[in-house]
Amino acid sequence: MSSTPAVIVEGINDIKIYNSIAKSINRCVEVYAVEAIKGYSAGCGHVINAVKALYASAESVLVEDFVIGIIDRDTREFRGELPVEKAFLVLNYYSVESHFVDPEIVRKSISTYTLAGDDAVSEEMIDALFSKIEQKLYDLYYFSLESLRFALDGNYNSDYRYSFANNRRKQDPAMSNVRAKIHELDSFAASLNIRCSLSDLKKISTGKWLLGAFSEEIYILLTNFKIYCGKFGAKKCQYCKREILDTCTYKIKEGISNKTIYSLAFEHTGLTSLDYVRDRFSSVSAVQ
Ligand SMILES: [Zn+2]
Repeated sequence: MSSTPAVIVEGINDIKIYNSIAKSINRCVEVYAVEAIKGYSAGCGHVINAVKALYASAESVLVEDFVIGIIDRDTREFRGELPVEKAFLVLNYYSVESHFVDPEIVRKSISTYTLAGDDAVSEEMIDALFSKIEQKLYDLYYFSLESLRFALDGNYNSDYRYSFANNRRKQDPAMSNVRAKIHELDSFAASLNIRCSLSDLKKISTGKWLLGAFSEEIYILLTNFKIYCGKFGAKKCQYCKREILDTCTYKIKEGISNKTIYSLAFEHTGLTSLDYVRDRFSSVSAVQ
């Protein structure tokens, strides 16, 4: 490693995201996927081992002055296993994906994936659409609690686990079994001070589930986006104004899917939800 501060991340998908965050504040860091460091593989456990090994060999040098090991929060906080060394940056939410469940992604999706102009998008519209989508995301709440319960107690007879694919919650028996446990899951949540809020959902749901559900909801919204033409203070598009049926600029572009929305969300690293990462990069690195 060079004298440029090193950021050690869990895997290949993280490299571009954290490089982009560093660039946004004009900071020079080298981002390394831990699996690309000799002797380590992908994943949080390896980031932890790699950073701890640096502490073990650094003697009087303060590792945190030249290294940041970024790890997912996942269930670590609830297991009481947050690492204490200062070189770690534990994400605020379950994983990096969770940070992109943000109103700004709704705004960017409308301006990028529809034919409506930027003047169609108002604050009022974004707030209204985001809160509509947010309500749908709470469908993940009890499935996340059930998974967390198993993560904390391997003997627990669970009906849902973090290893499950996102949409398994929509199928039986998982769907009915988890719903039958709502009262006991409420007590479990209360015992951990977890509330049914978006910020807590970002901590207990995997980022992949949450961003997956968010992207699906944005996609559903955009496929029926015409109903919002001329609403929230915007002018009606020229087609709707002339009552030309079946044509409206509030329309999703060809070839866009929920997967496009998911993948391209990561391009928007300017989100305020990632400002604490920017602050941390500023604290260790010099201006480029
Ligand atoms: Zn229209």
